[in-house]
Amino acid sequence: MQYIVFTDLDGTLVDHDTYSYEAAMPAIDMLKEKGIPLVFCTSKTRAEIEVYVDELNTGHPFISENGGAIFIPHDYFDVDYVSSRSTEKYDIIELGTDYSLLRNVLLNIAASEDLSVTGFGDMTDVEVSKDTGLDLDSACLAKQREYDEAFKLDGDEKDAETLISKIQANGLNYTRGGRYWHIIGENDKGKAVNILTQIYRKQYGDIKTVGLGDSLNDYPMLKVVDIPYLVQKHNGKHDPKIMDAKVNKVEGIGPVGWNMAISELLM
Ligand SMILES: [Mg+2]
Repeated sequence: MQYIVFTDLDGTLVDHDTYSYEAAMPAIDMLKEKGIPLVFCTSKTRAEIEVYVDELNTGHPFISENGGAIFIPHDYFDVDYVSSRSTEKYDIIELGTDYSLLRNVLLNIAASEDLSVTGFGDMTDVEVSKDTGLDLDSACLAKQREYDEAFKLDGDEKDAETLISKIQANGLNYTRGGRYWHIIGENDKGKAVNILTQIYRKQYGDIKTVGLGDSLNDYPMLKVVDIPYLVQKHNGKHDPKIMDAKVNKVEGIGPVGWNMAISELLM
């Protein structure tokens, strides 16, 4: 039996404030030793994820922008699968909606409903850096969005309700991560994990999938894996929006909880 580990990055494998994965290194090393694929599944962009792929030398497929696309390195699988397009490095399975369309819809809603919405597309690299705590280079990579606009809403609960109903009326969806709202198409992390899981199953036969997350945008992923874990958010609490009893709650914040969950699973 082969484990496959799917993980969120921000607030889960990497610390919400420092963006460090240091606390999770023992468990990351265990996965490497045992030849268990570690698949990043995050709201981050392809450009941002590639930094982590290079640093942790995983070489495995990854899922960007809340399930917007699956990037599979060429020759990673022996089995066949259908992709949307290929680049020099990857076969890409696209599930998301084009970024410029998402931006247009969001800006139109903000204007017509008089909502104070600020997206990454409205912000400079410096502003994204200040707001997220990312360094300037990382902020620049975070702005290279393809399938998901991250934004802030400056408003009350009523504004939030208006925004949600207008997004849905436009045939689009929303989700919320640790810091931002996201406007997306039909994609979510769960759909992307399902597709990639099917390819892994073709390749390995008997597999068991593991998923780790911290926020509501991880819930679709946690629902479709065999072993779901929810780590604590930076305030030391589990996300109250996830009430599913099947999700294993880990008593540790972000990468500390991640390390505990994977270490205990593999003991
Ligand atoms: Mg997160």
